[in-house]
Amino acid sequence: MATDERSIFSRIIAGEIPADVVFDSERIIAFRDIAPKAPVHLLVVPKTERYRDVVELAAGDPGLLAELVATANTLAEEHAHGEFRLVFNTGASAGQTIFHVHAHVLGGELEEGSLA
Ligand code: 5GP
Repeated sequence: MATDERSIFSRIIAGEIPADVVFDSERIIAFRDIAPKAPVHLLVVPKTERYRDVVELAAGDPGLLAELVATANTLAEEHAHGEFRLVFNTGASAGQTIFHVHAHVLGGELEEGSLA
């Protein structure tokens, strides 16, 4: 696949773009958002680029979605006292800019309206 057809996240997963990685397993990677909207703002990303959004992921691989949510919880325990907001922007008009499914984990003294 040509470089410009791949998501930025696929390029991070491949090590082609640097990222502040906080978690890396066989099927999931997590790193800090480059433009944080909260004191703790992590992106939890399945390594496969098969799924554009959470609806496709839930239909196609519910086990991987469950693993992603469990990973978000583990990371929130490590980085945000176990309390967090989990956001899946789904569709461009809802704010999704990268069509490679990912969860925003937001934590740490959130302010009103601080949705990613
Ligand atoms: P979306 O808008 O698709 O829900 O979320 C995409 C997120 O990816 C945004 O919060 C944006 O700040 C983040 N982002 C975009 N490019 C990069 C990058 O190159 N590195 C990192 N770490 N985050 C990125």
